[in-house]
Amino acid sequence: MVNSQLTPLRALKENFGYDSFLPLQEEIVENVLSGRDSLALMPTGGGKSLCYQLPAVCLPGITLVVSPLIALMKDQVDALNANGIGARFINSSLTASEIELAQAQASRGRVKILYVAPERLAIPGFRRFLQGVDLSLIAVDEAHCISEWGHEFRPDYRNLSQLRADFPGVPAIALTATATTRVREDIVEQLGLQQGRVFLSSFNRANLTYSVESKEGFWGKLLSLLQSHDGESAIIYCFSRRETEELAADLNERGLLARAYHAGLEPEIRRRNQEDFIRDRVPIIVATIAFGMGIDKPDIRLVVHHSLPKSLEGYYQETGRAGRDGLASHCALFYSYADRARQEYFINQLENRVEQQNAYLKLNQIVEFAEVPVCRRRSILTYFGEQWDQENCGACDICLSASQEFDATEIAQKVLSAVIRTGERFGAQHVARVLRGSREKRVLELGHDRLSVHGIVNDFTEEQLREVMGLLRANGLLARNEGEYATLAVSPRGREFLNQRQKLSLPALKSAETGPDTAGRVTRGIAEGDGGAGPEDFDRELFEELRALRRQLAEDQNVPPFVVFGDVALRFMATAFPQSLESFGRVPGVGSAKLEQYGDRFVAAITTFARARGLEDRTGEMGRAGNSGSSGRAGRRREGRTAGRGSTYEQTRELLSQGLTIDEIASRRGLASTTIIGQIERMASQGQELSLEHLLPPPDRLQKIREALDVCGDEYLKPIRDYLGPEFAYDELRLARLFLREVARLE
Ligand code: ADP
Ligand code: ZN
Repeated sequence: MVNSQLTPLRALKENFGYDSFLPLQEEIVENVLSGRDSLALMPTGGGKSLCYQLPAVCLPGITLVVSPLIALMKDQVDALNANGIGARFINSSLTASEIELAQAQASRGRVKILYVAPERLAIPGFRRFLQGVDLSLIAVDEAHCISEWGHEFRPDYRNLSQLRADFPGVPAIALTATATTRVREDIVEQLGLQQGRVFLSSFNRANLTYSVESKEGFWGKLLSLLQSHDGESAIIYCFSRRETEELAADLNERGLLARAYHAGLEPEIRRRNQEDFIRDRVPIIVATIAFGMGIDKPDIRLVVHHSLPKSLEGYYQETGRAGRDGLASHCALFYSYADRARQEYFINQLENRVEQQNAYLKLNQIVEFAEVPVCRRRSILTYFGEQWDQENCGACDICLSASQEFDATEIAQKVLSAVIRTGERFGAQHVARVLRGSREKRVLELGHDRLSVHGIVNDFTEEQLREVMGLLRANGLLARNEGEYATLAVSPRGREFLNQRQKLSLPALKSAETGPDTAGRVTRGIAEGDGGAGPEDFDRELFEELRALRRQLAEDQNVPPFVVFGDVALRFMATAFPQSLESFGRVPGVGSAKLEQYGDRFVAAITTFARARGLEDRTGEMGRAGNSGSSGRAGRRREGRTAGRGSTYEQTRELLSQGLTIDEIASRRGLASTTIIGQIERMASQGQELSLEHLLPPPDRLQKIREALDVCGDEYLKPIRDYLGPEFAYDELRLARLFLREVARLE
């Protein structure tokens, strides 16, 4: 049964602050609400959470969310509470009495969404508790953990079969960003989703740009990348623990705030470093791949791979942590032949032959990705079995350099001849050395210094030659023999090219570039295009101010900044300059709870900023919130408003002291009563003395509110209201809370 008053679209705006759905969300929500099972396969950032959170709000009972990520549950619950949705988690980080309290609240219908770790499902007490609640939906997050074929198998996920058997009538939704066919089938089987629908979205991350850089000149390139993402969150992945610490130290020495993260750190330090990053106290984290599973920070704008990842799948996952919020973000991979050799060294240590071959296969695929100059996006999507038809994605290093070409006829002839003369038995490195006239031991031993092609190239570096060979492969003139050592051979097309003296042009070499690397160009490329989802042309100064405000509010409430507002919302504010609560309510990500809780503070900050610069409220011109992607410089016309903030606050204070009620003040001043209360809250938080006594509810009601605050804490009103029931108005709660805070302060 669905709560008939709350349509999904209304709940979307009311609770999440969005006007429209992301791809597939609406279909999935509809399927869930119709009582059928669902499997949702969407990339990171696809908006999976909403697919169960929105139904949870509309359904009458509780939605149970099973998730393996204990570290994330608190953030998720905080985010839901900030949106005014009653949510709790139960896991091993809680004490027995905290668990009891959470269960009691759930049993009394005070909780809409309950997060648990899978091991909880095996505990008899918890199963008894579940039998006593009104369960509306079971959501299985990170559902690939149920499959032994996946890379993150969790035996505890097998408890889910029993859960399904215990609640045969309750629909389930499974969600994952991992989508190999085998894992997918396993999820359906293990969770008994046979009658359910499968929703498979594209795994293309349209807002991410990719580039592969040579590791030569690493420092300069890294610094310019970090500079173009100044102050924004960035992850740098390294191969070894030692490298993470060294790199972090080097960055710190250059005045760039960075922390290391790896599995070998003291748990306390590791936790603190991670938290500092999540809470925006430190912008850069230098990590091994141990970092990431427990991260859903939505505003990571840069992911750098200092070394080659172990597989393309791993690369996709790691880069996937960038730009979850849909805003343009960049992924840069630094590649060197030495990194490959280092991985090979470790693979050779593996004792299990099958594992070893498997690891080689994966390594070859990622090397292929790094070396072969075809569209990075196409390479990734092809690997996942998805077709990508677009000729030029316009958002990777290859596609962006494809527009500049050079005449490669002569160098191609030289390379192909050298491959033939050396007997088509060698890899790119050796061929390049011969061409450049190397007198290295191996070249001499093989007698390759006596070949006619020895030393005929001096205008290309070894690295550039390897890039040329990659391009020749991409153009079908060279072929690669797979095997323990990859060797190059000239293809029939390559022979035709030589014999018929054809002409060839190739895209400009990346390694030929000097100065700032392609990454800057890639980032700019996408900024000029339409890659990101939000407006790119926003007022940076205001954005930074709002970011600081967000951080301060988050610190006060002990939640991560993105729980307050995401970057999409802040950029919208810094484009539209909403200067009334009504306008502010139209910002994407501002639902009614956030409007109430944060509206005044943000509107005040924006108004002060905008007035000083004569900026108008442009919210009305912005079109449908968030999805417009519209840009254009903000109008900077003067507006003739006079009332300063001081005076409007003073007027309210004056009327209060005359004993007027909120409604009287509101109507006298032509403002909404919530605005008046907001002003009162703000003055109180600044320590101003106010006459509030005449506004307080009668003692018995005040006592009930006091009790509710004890149970629910006093940060969020929605849980308090849920606890007390609808006969308590929000305004009454806000005023009582103010008063009780004041009392507590004086006690
Ligand atoms: P996933 O779990 O698939 O990685 P999330 O659920 O974390 O993705 O959502 C990714 C981002 O998209 C979040 O910042 C979320 O607030 C935002 N988002 C989700 N649904 C919508 C929507 N309908 N409109 C705008 N933004 C949305
Ligand atoms: Zn491309």
